[in-house]
Amino acid sequence: MSIDDVTKKEEALLRKSICPDCGYDKFREGPCGGASVNVMCANDKCKARFNICGPFTPQRLEYGSMRKTEEQAEKDAAATANQFDRFDIIDFD
Ligand SMILES: [Zn+2]
Repeated sequence: MSIDDVTKKEEALLRKSICPDCGYDKFREGPCGGASVNVMCANDKCKARFNICGPFTPQRLEYGSMRKTEEQAEKDAAATANQFDRFDIIDFD
């Protein structure tokens, strides 16, 4: 799996210190050099890593392990919808 560029949506979340992969709102700071700093999502189940360099678009270093691709998220949503479809609607007296 290749590392995608950070999307505008992901960048907006990162600027608010929110992990775009899992929604956690804390990051650990890693090594920094000059204006750039490596951060890792503080959610141990996620650990997505990014390089944030001042006003420039952040770079993704590693995907969080909870990250879903949009395709996967859609599949999951469809699967959940299917589960609910299996239930009959029951009238309570
Ligand atoms: Zn995360």
